[in-house]
Amino acid sequence: MCIFCKIANGEIPSATIYEDDDFRVILDLGPATRGHALILPKNHYANLCELDDEVAGKALIVAKKIGTAMMNSLGCTGFNLVQNNGEEAGQTVMHFHIHVIPRYDGGERIVAWTPGKTTPEEMAEVAEQIKSAL
Ligand code: 5GP
Ligand code: ZN
Repeated sequence: MCIFCKIANGEIPSATIYEDDDFRVILDLGPATRGHALILPKNHYANLCELDDEVAGKALIVAKKIGTAMMNSLGCTGFNLVQNNGEEAGQTVMHFHIHVIPRYDGGERIVAWTPGKTTPEEMAEVAEQIKSAL
């Protein structure tokens, strides 16, 4: 059993802020900002590609609930949903999870990148490549 399986199923105690039949939502041990939470499904799925469709749908509803509660309780003025898939994407725990990260006035932009350049030809090629696998 992986560490998030144990936390999600209550074998390891955690700062739980929400629980239902399918999910436990806990506070992150290394918070990006005050209130940083993790939505953990109780069943093990390594990443989004493996996630059950029904659980995937419910996960966004839980994210909405948590983000709304954060906005109404913490004094944050926004929040980010972050969901990493694969080591190259920064995933360190191979049990699907969604980060809910409250954002405060004056805080740094955590989820940011430098916009690159592309061409209409390249965009058409990339679009075809992805569409061919759907
Ligand atoms: P990832 O990089 O895989 O998307 O995110 C993993 C997150 O889980 C990190 O933000 C890390 O701080 C958090 N984390 C790792 N182990 C534990 C743990 O045992 N308890 C809690 N509450 N958070 C954890
Ligand atoms: Zn697991």
